[in-house]
Amino acid sequence: SEATPFLRVSHLTGHYGETQALHDISLEVREGEIVCLLGRNGAGKTTTLRAIMGILQKRGGEITVKGQSTAGLPPEAIAQLGLAYCPEERGIFASLTTEENLMLPPVLHPGGLSVEEIYTLFPNLKTRRTSPGTKLSGGEQQMLAIGRILRTGAKLLLLDECTEGLAPVIIEKIGQTVSMLRSRGFTVLMVEQNFRFASQLADRFYVIEEGMVADQFAQSDIEPNRARIEALLGL
Ligand code: ATP
Repeated sequence: SEATPFLRVSHLTGHYGETQALHDISLEVREGEIVCLLGRNGAGKTTTLRAIMGILQKRGGEITVKGQSTAGLPPEAIAQLGLAYCPEERGIFASLTTEENLMLPPVLHPGGLSVEEIYTLFPNLKTRRTSPGTKLSGGEQQMLAIGRILRTGAKLLLLDECTEGLAPVIIEKIGQTVSMLRSRGFTVLMVEQNFRFASQLADRFYVIEEGMVADQFAQSDIEPNRARIEALLGL
């Protein structure tokens, strides 16, 4: 029988005040998978990650982590279940150095990486250890943001548009990083606008449209359905 997925989202709804942003999102992320949320601007991808992490307070439907419901839990309790969220805006503290930014997150689980281990993964960050957050390039900031969530020991990483605004060579490096994380046993749920990038990386995809899941497919479905998928994504 199928093992309990790491994350299961069933008929999720979500509101900002009176505005309903999520209408009906159901998805699963199994341990070790890379799953990608696709869809146009404003479709509800970021809001879905915010609901999973418990940042979006007005949420309905059901979210379970390893079978346990997260209903009513605040973000810090959801983090204790092994989830970490890397927001699109990255959340780097400009006035802190690289190393100070890395030391901020609490280590919540055994297996959280030490600062030295993060430097081994991202040698650039070590070179820039005393630079203030503001002085880092976009790519370095993204590495720092990912490095920071690895500190916590979380096993399910929610990555929001981690390639946005970055040069192709840096995007390639991020792709290698995500593949490496998979080989080390991490599970990833990512939001991507860059379909070319995501299509080489993710195992399965959900297309979000107007707060609903409009389609889902596996990596092996892409080639035979490329025209239909690209039309769905507006590419
Ligand atoms: P993008 O790629 O632009 O971030 P997205 O698919 O992640 O798109 P969301 O950011 O989740 O989309 O937005 C979903 C809907 O919720 C949009 O209609 C958006 O305008 C609305 N929305 C997002 N954030 C807020 C907010 N803080 N207050 C009110 N409405 C919001």
